[in-house]
Amino acid sequence: MADAGSNDVSAKLEVLRQRFRDKALKEFDALDAIARSFLAGQADCQELDQVYRILHRLAGSAGTFGYSALGEEARRLELWVKPQVDDCEDGFLKSSEINEEFFSHLVSLREMLALSDRQHTETEASVYAAQPDEAPVLVIEPDASKAEQLAEGLALYGYRVSAIKSLVEWNPASDTRPSVVVVRDEVMLAEASRLPAEFRELPVICIGVSDSYSHRYALAREGAEAFFSDPLNLPLLADHLERLLTDHADAASGRVLIVDDDPELREHYQLVLSNGGMEAEGVTGDPSVLLPKLSEFRPDIVLMDVQMGGISGTALARMMRFEPEFLSLPIVYLSAESDRELQLEALSKGGDDFLTKPVSDSFLLRTARIRCYRAKQLDKLVSRDSLTGLLKHSLVKAEVAKEHARCRRMHHDSVVAMMDLDHFKKVNDTQGHRSGDLVIKGLANLLRHRLRKTDVIGRYGGEEFLVVLPECTLERGQEVLQAVCEDFSRIVFEGGAGEFSVTLSVGMAALPDYDHPEEAIEAADRALYERKRAGRNGVTAVGL
Ligand code: GH3
Ligand code: MG
Ligand code: MG
Repeated sequence: MADAGSNDVSAKLEVLRQRFRDKALKEFDALDAIARSFLAGQADCQELDQVYRILHRLAGSAGTFGYSALGEEARRLELWVKPQVDDCEDGFLKSSEINEEFFSHLVSLREMLALSDRQHTETEASVYAAQPDEAPVLVIEPDASKAEQLAEGLALYGYRVSAIKSLVEWNPASDTRPSVVVVRDEVMLAEASRLPAEFRELPVICIGVSDSYSHRYALAREGAEAFFSDPLNLPLLADHLERLLTDHADAASGRVLIVDDDPELREHYQLVLSNGGMEAEGVTGDPSVLLPKLSEFRPDIVLMDVQMGGISGTALARMMRFEPEFLSLPIVYLSAESDRELQLEALSKGGDDFLTKPVSDSFLLRTARIRCYRAKQLDKLVSRDSLTGLLKHSLVKAEVAKEHARCRRMHHDSVVAMMDLDHFKKVNDTQGHRSGDLVIKGLANLLRHRLRKTDVIGRYGGEEFLVVLPECTLERGQEVLQAVCEDFSRIVFEGGAGEFSVTLSVGMAALPDYDHPEEAIEAADRALYERKRAGRNGVTAVGL
């Protein structure tokens, strides 16, 4: 499937390259005509401006379509002609810099279309293809019973786990690619040197008995990212996995809005980014299209061309900043501008970074990923609870209100649930506050895994959680949350006074049954209280 996908992308990129080529050929015709009119002593400022625009476009795009030599030559000629264009007054060419030599270079641009570095761009696009759906955790453990225990333990947290005894059993060509590897230290030391390249890119967590520094150093040198000693503290391991996997997903994904007036270039960027696992959309610089698009698509970052015909990217950026909601949206300028002063000016007027065209596919993708990752991390700092990574109180309440409005409008069922850990004061008192924190994180991680992507999970208070299950009946919601309660009660935590488990109580209500979202939350809270009185550890739903 991955192959078919990347072939498809290559074919689409090839179509765009052809379109770029056809357009360039037409532009060369125009340049030839202007050269002829110059040699006949008739060239004027308007024509010179047209020459400049064509060169500017070629300089910024040719490299992206595999014609770097053409792009470089166009850039050189662009810089040659730019001062004369700025200097043109009243339709008259004042300078003698634009001479026969210049036009002879101009007409020879056409020949450079034969010098394509296409081979290169094709491989680039496929190398950065997104991975297909993954089986997150691969356990490599020679001891079968330990492997089974670990797989079962991690499955409780909702991880999909596959286990093998040694690396030899792993076939990267046919097996699903994992996102993280948990490997017994002796396997790592014995087999690491024989690892296939695919393996080296994965985060590796080692488990083992030894805690000598030299042993740990040896593991780190082989590329291990973390070490957990036996007997394994499963909640700690699960928490580490969670961070690795969320970071992994955050780093590879993101929403990018491309603002560029060149359709081939825009589509090329879009294809490269979406092939790399990102969501990308493109618009021209038309301000009346841009703003509604921003509100609808909600990008993590904007890639903005600086010159779009008569429209200036820096002015668009300033206009975006008029809206409070886009004040902190990162803008990365994409521009053929090699003028440092102009770049600085663009940055001072509301941009965050500058990419000079032509941008290679891999550079574009890496920059977009890093920028999106940082934007999301920042957003998380503001909106997410630091212990659990869940939505903060006010934000989860806002989500309840949004979903309330949505299910009223669309006439579907939705559920709001309030959760609270049972006898948690006692846990803190006997096991220590830090172990208590680990229990809270454990529940957050379990919820993230067990609920759907579209479900909303928030930390409502200290050990209280608020969950919204959109498009879900009360009956189905009860089944799902009952299963969460059962799995949670089976997790074994390690604390100051030894091993322990914690149970969970849940109260739920049907969101559309109430006139106001607040009332639904209060009803779920009352149901939770009933559950506590009825013996805790389970779910009580209003009206079921
Ligand atoms: P119940 O079954 O009735 O809910 O009993 P409970 O002991 O859990 O009672 P309650 O919900 O009122 O207690 C909440 C406790 O949770 C009190 C507080 O110390 C603890 N807690 C709140 N936030 C945190 C936190 O971030 N970390 C830790 N470790 N404990 C917390
Ligand atoms: Mg409480
Ligand atoms: Mg409690």
